[in-house]
Amino acid sequence: MSAGGTEYDRGACTPCRGTGKLISGKGGTPHEVSCPWCDGDGRFHPGRDAQTGEQIQTAAAD
Ligand SMILES: [Zn+2]
Repeated sequence: MSAGGTEYDRGACTPCRGTGKLISGKGGTPHEVSCPWCDGDGRFHPGRDAQTGEQIQTAAAD
C-alpha cells in the first residue's frame, strides 16, 4: 500500500482532528473551546466520556 497522504492516524483525536480545539456555536457566537474528547491534547483516549470529561471506569475490582 502506498496511498501517501491519506493515512489515518489512529492516535489522533477524530472530532478535533488532532488539534485539541473545537469551534463551539453554543451561546450564539462561535468560539474555540478545548476538545472534550481529548481534553485539548489532540490524542485519542479510548474509553473517555466526552459528556463528563471523565475516564470511564470499566472495572471496579479489588
Ligand atoms: Zn480532540
